[in-house]
Amino acid sequence: MDIKELNLEQAKELYEFLQGKFMPEGYELKNIPKLNQEEAFTIIYILQTHFRVVKDTIEPCDNCGELFDTDSDGEYHDCDSCEDEWCKKRYPLADFEELKKALNYKFFCNECCEMNYLAENGVI
Ligand SMILES: [Zn+2]
Ligand SMILES: [Zn+2]
Repeated sequence: MDIKELNLEQAKELYEFLQGKFMPEGYELKNIPKLNQEEAFTIIYILQTHFRVVKDTIEPCDNCGELFDTDSDGEYHDCDSCEDEWCKKRYPLADFEELKKALNYKFFCNECCEMNYLAENGVI
């Protein structure tokens, strides 16, 4: 039997289920998992990379924690290869080293989350 990869919507349900926030209809389970976001994503991650049953471009947003598909959405920044081009243009008033520290290898589901994250961390 071919195993079909979970898409974003299904992965989101699993992610919520693992945090005790979602239960498929018709189930009354006694032992409901109550993981935090990091633990829940650890399970998704191993399902992506080892078991290969979840689409591997799905990531959690580093600001709000929601899952999104980096294939079709979101912001990802690799400062080590962009030097100061991208972030400097986008946040001209911020300190480049601080931006780099805050943004490097982070995923954000949209620009608002990225800006919130930088604001909350005192970078902009
Ligand atoms: Zn977000
Ligand atoms: Zn950069």
